[in-house]
Amino acid sequence: MGGAHSRPSNAAVPLEERYMACMVLSGAGDALGYKKGKWEFNFSGPEIHRELKELGGLGNIQVNKDDFPVSDDTVMQLALAEALVQGKRGEDLYKEISTKFQECSMDMGGRAAGQTCMDAVYRMKQDRYISYRIPFNAKGGGCGAAMRSMCIGLLFPRPEEIQDLIEVSIESGRMTHNNPTGYLGALASALFTSYGIQQKPLVEWGKGLMDTLPLAMRYIEETGFDVENNKKHWDYFTDQWTKYLKLRQISDGKSKPVFPWKYGVKERDEFYKSISFADHGGNSGHDAPMIAYDAILSHNGTWTDLCHHGMFHGGDNDSTGVITGALFGALNGFSSVPEGNYKNLEYRDRLENIATLLFEMNHKDEAKTKLEEPKSIPGEAQQNCEDTKNLSGKATAESGETKSPTGKATE
Ligand SMILES: [Mg+2]
Repeated sequence: MGGAHSRPSNAAVPLEERYMACMVLSGAGDALGYKKGKWEFNFSGPEIHRELKELGGLGNIQVNKDDFPVSDDTVMQLALAEALVQGKRGEDLYKEISTKFQECSMDMGGRAAGQTCMDAVYRMKQDRYISYRIPFNAKGGGCGAAMRSMCIGLLFPRPEEIQDLIEVSIESGRMTHNNPTGYLGALASALFTSYGIQQKPLVEWGKGLMDTLPLAMRYIEETGFDVENNKKHWDYFTDQWTKYLKLRQISDGKSKPVFPWKYGVKERDEFYKSISFADHGGNSGHDAPMIAYDAILSHNGTWTDLCHHGMFHGGDNDSTGVITGALFGALNGFSSVPEGNYKNLEYRDRLENIATLLFEMNHKDEAKTKLEEPKSIPGEAQQNCEDTKNLSGKATAESGETKSPTGKATE
């Protein structure tokens, strides 16, 4: 693994493969970060890396149901995606999602399901066929909605589908996380996945999210549910993202991101903690997609380095892993990913089936803008790869300018 030969060559990867890789590698990222609970609940990145080395490194890992099962993240994303491909919309779709969430709660044994999700599902079961809405939850800012919503970006990958993406992200998100920090995490995961499919330059993603937030607020106001509570709790997500983009110097969506001179396992642990809600990087709706984005921006272009940044850290690494894996797949397909990391992945067949259905749904409506295959925009596609490649180098080169330790820089 590693080296130029395994660098992503997304310019040549067909769109269908990127759909497939998005779903399959999200499951692989979840399974790798989770490691049967052992790594999800190990809060030391250096220790996880020591254990990874003892296992012979990522290239030696065979992901399978016994040693690396998928966690609640993948089970819930499958539930959501299997509702999305029914072709329903509006209330019918949301009732279908609620039903799938309830059904998937029976498949949580040994998967460390999140309490907020399970509490909401319990409530939905009580109200079955009456309502999929739960009360506003001031403590509902966890990552449970963000970790499952990448599939929404595969259903609505085009810029002109942004309103659909916003609505389905928010409604499915607030079924379990009725708090802006929670459901805006779902919006971020879905939006970034759509950007990956579009091959939108990486530095534009953060600004794209910020530009989308006012549209999300408008939707909240239009639907009229919990408007005052949503407004009261709205700013945390926006503020955290504003600070992050400022720190990386990409608020304008144009500049090259800046990273500390030394950004190793220990430094990343410190940084991920510093952006978290309670010292547990990736545990919230704002920082799970943020860490995934940071990993996509900062890794050297290979799956192995991406996993080191996005999956193997102290914190909620199955939830950052499930998002990071999806984004890599949407951008690059299976390029540079060792087959053993996904060949025998639990539920691979379901993930592949969903990917195929989502891909086909995007090709049957001829009225929609054709999704461009990357080969038609070679410069831009390659630019993504080059951006990623350069960033590591640039981070080193710019160390003298940036200087500030990652932890402090977020203050
Ligand atoms: Mg999990």
